[in-house]
Amino acid sequence: MLSFEQALNIVKEKLATADLRLGTEVVPLGEACGRVLAEEVVADRDYPPFHRSIRDGFAVRAEDVATPPVELRWRGEIRAGEHFTGTVGAGECVSIMTGAPLPAGADAVVMVEYAESQEDNVKIHRGVQTGENVVPQGSEARAGAPVLPRGRRLGAAELGLLATVGKWRVPVFVRPMVAILPTGDEVVPVEQRPEWFQIRNSNAISLSAQVVAAGGIPHCLEIAPDRPEALRRLIKEGLNADLLLLTGGVSVGRYDFVEQVLADLGAEFYFQSVALRPGKPLVFGRVAGKFFFGLPGNPVSTFVTFALFARPALAALGGADFEAPLFLRARIDKPFQQRTGLTAFLPARLDRSSGDPVVSLVGWQGSGDLVGAAVANCFLVVHPDQTNLTAGDWVDVMAKER
Ligand code: AMP
Ligand code: MG
Repeated sequence: MLSFEQALNIVKEKLATADLRLGTEVVPLGEACGRVLAEEVVADRDYPPFHRSIRDGFAVRAEDVATPPVELRWRGEIRAGEHFTGTVGAGECVSIMTGAPLPAGADAVVMVEYAESQEDNVKIHRGVQTGENVVPQGSEARAGAPVLPRGRRLGAAELGLLATVGKWRVPVFVRPMVAILPTGDEVVPVEQRPEWFQIRNSNAISLSAQVVAAGGIPHCLEIAPDRPEALRRLIKEGLNADLLLLTGGVSVGRYDFVEQVLADLGAEFYFQSVALRPGKPLVFGRVAGKFFFGLPGNPVSTFVTFALFARPALAALGGADFEAPLFLRARIDKPFQQRTGLTAFLPARLDRSSGDPVVSLVGWQGSGDLVGAAVANCFLVVHPDQTNLTAGDWVDVMAKER
């Protein structure tokens, strides 16, 4: 069976070598959060645009204050948003505020804490090196230098940078459309009162949320019954989207028809199971030019397999880098044994209130237990070779939401 890493590599490779033909559009900066940049962005001018003071204090010539204390002649004041028209000569200084341009002649700023104003003079109590408390013009970026690459997902910091360089109309990739197709005769719509032997369709709503968070547009199809004809019709409908996510019907049960119907439609399967817990029956392939994932139906398996495999694939379909799952490190609080040969993702809680981060498993009834999983704030990752963990061992942890 494929290891978790091997399976993830297959997804990465298939997406990297596919001809994705991504559309682009231009959106206002205020609506660009979470979108993926479709063109490289360059600095429109030097940053900083001038030698910028990073302190409130006095602009001086460093050589004049080499042997403090010294008295300098005060020539005036530069507030942020203003500039000084004269030149600071030998033995002179100018008051300067944070964010103001250094005046000609000066080469450093003495912090206000180390100076004392007296009539027309300022007494400086501490020397400075040339360039101290000043960020030189162009040191962050030269005019024309790239500041954000194509394919970068835009978060708050990136939006701030786009605003800085005056990019108020932003070229981004069109968001991929993701069809979500739940399957199962026992699954009923959330609004419907279930019979005692039925369960509500929780997968579609949690997958929708995961799709939105990953930069896609979810499109929920009706629940497919466990019958090949109906499944076939709905799968075909789902293939109008850029990515198809099915849930359920991929195990070895007598009424698990998903793979059979996909095969009848001419699907290519890249894998049909992964050494994963939960999520072993995970299916990945392509049919009619579209990638699909057959996610196991148990809600925690659905959640985990999306986070591990579908989320990075969706990022790539949206023009971003393949965003492989990110693991943190923590110490496990209690001994843990497993002999399954699988990579396990187990609901857990991460506590960072003191010292090293500590991870503890939460009680749960397995991959159908959303009640237990809701208590968790992360997943403890146990690799196949970690058969015998001792309390205090360092382990991998995956955040519940990236
Ligand atoms: P399956 O993968 O079809 O064998 O389903 C595994 C388990 O997940 C079963 O207990 C199903 O009832 C449950 N399940 C399947 N689909 C959904 C869904 N859309 N929402 C909630 N639970 C589901
Ligand atoms: Mg089923």
